[in-house]
Amino acid sequence: ERTPLIAGNWKMNLDHLQAIALVQKLSWSLKDARHDYTDVEVAVFPPFTDLRSVQTLLTADKLPIALGAQDLSPEAAGAFTGDISAAMLAKLEVHYALVGHSERRQGHGESDELIGAKAAAASNAGLVPMICVGETAADLEEHGPAAIPLAQMQAAVSALPEGAEFVIAYEPVWAIGSGQAASAEQAEAVAAALREALRDTVGDERAAATRILYGGSVASQNIAGFMAQPNVDGALVGGASLKSEEFSRIIQFRK
Ligand code: 13P
Repeated sequence: ERTPLIAGNWKMNLDHLQAIALVQKLSWSLKDARHDYTDVEVAVFPPFTDLRSVQTLLTADKLPIALGAQDLSPEAAGAFTGDISAAMLAKLEVHYALVGHSERRQGHGESDELIGAKAAAASNAGLVPMICVGETAADLEEHGPAAIPLAQMQAAVSALPEGAEFVIAYEPVWAIGSGQAASAEQAEAVAAALREALRDTVGDERAAATRILYGGSVASQNIAGFMAQPNVDGALVGGASLKSEEFSRIIQFRK
């Protein structure tokens, strides 16, 4: 059985003091609600400059919230000004690394090849890559919902070492930050197609164990519908993860 995962991608928001305040408020809110972290896993993806502060807080207060990075370099070390390596992140007890977010694909021209190299670098350093895939509105019209996400997933997963653990985040680009989430049925249809394709790529067992998240305008009002789908195993939340009360309600989607 797959443990649901609710992940907050903060994008370029919150300085390190605001980051500490948010994680503290979130943990208090989850404590009040007696949240069982083994029932629903929680992860936050702060900006690089916040990682050390958040890690220190999580360690000091023994909070079972997983830490993720929003990006990483495919390179191991050396003359790569401005880049951050997988090993640096692993040393900070970062567990997940996002790769292939549409804001990296579009805003930074990241190719499937680069994203595959980043996913492999993460995996080789002991991190779990969270591979983001998704179609634009134009792709949706031209190719339907699943073709682009499938191709993006295959490119990244085929770059991973054999047996590597990974998470897939299906984020239709048209649903990100738009307030227009996909319907639960749309998310399920693509998630099911992705899992079916994974059976061929990584085998039945890994395909069955891999979490496939939905992302794009997830909020407390729509989370339950997504989580009721058999192939949707969680959410990658942007804007709504910046508010502790709202993110806490999303995490407690069963209540
Ligand atoms: P929103 O939840 O703000 O739509 O962002 C989704 C996203 O891109 C998460 O990675």
